[in-house]
Amino acid sequence: MMFGWISNVQSITITLDELSFCGKFSIMNINLAIAYCIEKSYEPYVISKVLDYIVELHLELKINCSLFVTGRALTTNRNDFLRLNKMPFLDIASHTFDHIGIKANLEQRKNEFNYIAPVSIKEIADDCRRFNSLYQEIFECQCLGFCAPRGFYRGLADRPDLLELLSSFYYKYIVSWTRNNLDWFPCDQSVAPFSYHYQGFSHLLEIPTHGWQDAAWIKTRPQTITTEYWSSQKNELLNSLKLPRKFFGLVLHDWVIFEEFIDNNLIKDFYLFCLENELSVGSFKDYYDSFYLNNQG
Ligand SMILES: [Zn+2]
Repeated sequence: MMFGWISNVQSITITLDELSFCGKFSIMNINLAIAYCIEKSYEPYVISKVLDYIVELHLELKINCSLFVTGRALTTNRNDFLRLNKMPFLDIASHTFDHIGIKANLEQRKNEFNYIAPVSIKEIADDCRRFNSLYQEIFECQCLGFCAPRGFYRGLADRPDLLELLSSFYYKYIVSWTRNNLDWFPCDQSVAPFSYHYQGFSHLLEIPTHGWQDAAWIKTRPQTITTEYWSSQKNELLNSLKLPRKFFGLVLHDWVIFEEFIDNNLIKDFYLFCLENELSVGSFKDYYDSFYLNNQG
């Protein structure tokens, strides 16, 4: 099977001028951090198509983004990621090897409860080791970011054991606070990025995500994923700008993009709305860089 991603990317000519925006946001306050979870490894052609879409969109708009990638996806789409490695407007970070749950979720959806058990500490350590070894082999550098699948209320603030483990793998930023106090959505805009210094890990920065996850919206109210989902995200974003930190974290999923957004302009329209409102838009790594620059002296 011929993947559109391979042929399309080879045909994209990136000039030095076009690449000059890469890193531009690293010295600015980021208002909107964008990431994509790349995890549909059991259908690698979906990943190829969605990566193709992401590259074209971000080149056109000249904005950086992060990719939170499972080790399984790195395995099934290795050649795609080798090409992505040459594109510095992308920050590629971990979404664990096997999309494991590192902390329990007890989702409360109205009167319904859904419990998702975590795996053991040993399994998390083995997973991190496996992911980092593959990442090093492909990209020849250290992985700096870790996005916990599903995410949690309070992130890892109540789990110093997990912070210690992730710290031992040299991660610098963590994306794990993505839910409200019902372990559900939307995650409140008032949750600002913070370092885990109270737990003894001041070098680990939590960068939360806000609003609804597209994956949760499509599972519970699929009929409005192309309408109310986006108006809800815009409202949440505008509310976040009224708060001191003026920050909104957005994560979209490869399989939702493929099913609902790849053939329309809804994602592009959202980013254009942000740019028209003069927001600084970048990757989660850009936010990490700017956080430490802004807090030095
Ligand atoms: Zn995920």
